[in-house]
Amino acid sequence: MTPTASAPTLSAAPTDQPSAPSSAILATYKRAPMLITRGEGVRLFDDTGRAYLDFTSGIAVNALGYGDPGIARAIEQAMVSGLIHTSNLFRTTPGEALAARLVDLSGFAQRAFFCNSGAEANEGAFKIARKWGRALGGPAKHEIIAVRGGFHGRLFATVAATDRPAYRLPFRPLVPGVHIVERDLGDLETALDRDTTCALIVEPIQGEGGVRVLEPALLQAMRRLTQERQIAFILDEIQCGLGRTGHLFAFERAGVQPDMVTLAKPLAGGLPMGAVLMTQPFADAMAAGDHGTTFGGGPFVASVALHVLDRLADPALLAHVRAVGAVMADGLAAIQARTGRVRAVRGTGLMWGVDVHEPAAAVIERARGLGLLILSAGEHTLRLLPPLVLSREDALAGLDTLEQAITTG
Ligand SMILES: *Cc1c(COP(=O)(O)O)cnc(C)c1O
Repeated sequence: MTPTASAPTLSAAPTDQPSAPSSAILATYKRAPMLITRGEGVRLFDDTGRAYLDFTSGIAVNALGYGDPGIARAIEQAMVSGLIHTSNLFRTTPGEALAARLVDLSGFAQRAFFCNSGAEANEGAFKIARKWGRALGGPAKHEIIAVRGGFHGRLFATVAATDRPAYRLPFRPLVPGVHIVERDLGDLETALDRDTTCALIVEPIQGEGGVRVLEPALLQAMRRLTQERQIAFILDEIQCGLGRTGHLFAFERAGVQPDMVTLAKPLAGGLPMGAVLMTQPFADAMAAGDHGTTFGGGPFVASVALHVLDRLADPALLAHVRAVGAVMADGLAAIQARTGRVRAVRGTGLMWGVDVHEPAAAVIERARGLGLLILSAGEHTLRLLPPLVLSREDALAGLDTLEQAITTG
């Protein structure tokens, strides 16, 4: 084919400048400039020895902080068997034990599917819902509905369910049959169709979309509608689940039970792991060969996850999250009242969003300069996701630094 004048050339200017020009890593992230060399508790250290109080937890992954001795022991013990990976062609004990434990703790599920990330868990849930929907209502029952402000991952079906134009537009065409609807009961009443919808996916607390806590009444109405219309109700608890709200599952707060729940971020203590928990009818829809993964649920990650899950399910840890969460709630409300620079505060447990007038990136940079690491969730929203083992004292210290960062602009 002869190139035409209008054809884009391979040397077209990149739209994003890499933040660290010396790095050979593809610049899909704007990385902070310091070089992280060590972690301990709720602190990270750079190569100059400078400490940072970490309210990012590797994006909601490091629930137990850094250098946790229990995780270190679990890793050592997992190595004793000599099994890091066997493939899913063989049975191993850790994966079976982890599935049983998750199913038991969930209070609703009968089966677990393991994979390696959050997006993979949601893609798996979508495939399970489609196969189930097809068996129930024929090929027309395949549409997946997601809601405004949702984030479900960066793969083709999950990005189609993700409400961020910048994540979607450059990659069209996305997976067909995936739609985004307003977070509104009336709109959902219209959109959720018994004959054509197979699944509704929502985050009980939207993370990337600005830390929006869905009203229990809305989640309950979603549950009622999906039940009446035989639509799979999938809760994406990849960010808000596994203890972050002060409950093992965020859905417990709303008093609803889903048909499937997806998990990932904190599940294996920083090792990559995702999971889909589902009720029996969804498990029954899937037969051998319908879905797969080479790595998912391997003995090494599953052993570590078993340890992490035990720790996260500990009622004492969950009570601690609720208590320190209350400290955060009070502290953030006080910052809002004192500074006049905070438009809104949203969240629960150890998951908080703070709307500011100026660009979030500017506050994040000042906070980093003051030794506090925080995230954004949209242009003007700061997001706080500290490790769940955060002490009251460190919570107060972090709030103090945050207030400084907000006011020194
Ligand atoms: C992070 C996240 C995902 C995607 O997880 P990856 O492991 O990055 O693929 C999906 N859903 C929610 C709610 C998330 O926060």
